[in-house]
Amino acid sequence: MAGVQDRVALVTGGAQGIGAEVARRLAADGAKVGVLDLNADSAKSMADEISAAGGTAIGLAADVSKREDVQAAVDTLVAEFGGLHILVNNAGVLRDNLLFKMTDDDWTLVMDVHLRGAFLASQIAQRHMVEAKYGRIISMSSTSALGNRGQANYSTAKAGLQGLTKTLAIELGPFGVTANAIAPGFIETAMTKATAERVGGSIEQMREAVASTVPVRRGGLPADIANTVAFFAAEESGYITGQVIYVDGGRGLL
Ligand code: NAP
Repeated sequence: MAGVQDRVALVTGGAQGIGAEVARRLAADGAKVGVLDLNADSAKSMADEISAAGGTAIGLAADVSKREDVQAAVDTLVAEFGGLHILVNNAGVLRDNLLFKMTDDDWTLVMDVHLRGAFLASQIAQRHMVEAKYGRIISMSSTSALGNRGQANYSTAKAGLQGLTKTLAIELGPFGVTANAIAPGFIETAMTKATAERVGGSIEQMREAVASTVPVRRGGLPADIANTVAFFAAEESGYITGQVIYVDGGRGLL
């Protein structure tokens, strides 16, 4: 069984939400996982949870928008597990506001975490992948890449990640490295809970509203995204590159 067995994976923003489920899934499938997050304690407790369940993981504290942090995290991971084969660019933040109210800081932070973060992690990781002639880079885009009210910054960043993905696919393909993106719709996490509360509702109301508008009639869960990451990350998926899969319950079809 190939899949991700014995591969080394780095999941950014891996301490909670989608990233945590991705880290659990890759570890359950046999990968050694670096759980990278801003907060050292939460990265370590997620890694400890994975280890307690029989997997192999370490926590790595880093801000993905800082080159020295990402370099240090990758160096630690490679020293610990002997390589880096799978990168999941997942760390993200929201700073939603209508365009006329959006501040420079709202714009810059979102660009820095999503775009600079994915650029830095991909650039630093690819050195190890190219050397090994093997790699999988998976970036978390969003249905918001298609445009979303109140998300000029986030929509731009998520569309940018699709462009980055296609360019990485072109540049790194000859070295055995694929690059793909996942565009989730509504997935229940702390991020969507905060969004629901910001607009004066609850996560339950948001889940019901989404369920009534998508063909599969339910909201998305982190496991839906982890499953797609596992697919792209597998050795057997080596002929798939430069793709974006929308994991959104069929949003927009009805
Ligand atoms: P989440 O629960 O807020 O988790 C995001 C994680 O990223 C947090 O652990 C956060 O740490 C970490 N993070 C933030 N800034 C970071 C930085 N500079 N360096 C390192 N880590 C950082 O969000 P989620 O819902 O799981 O989303 C994960 C990804 O999927 C994001 O890229 C998001 O845009 C994307 N996505 C989510 C949905 C959805 O419906 N949930 C839909 C489409 C796309 P702290 O908590 O310490 O800040």
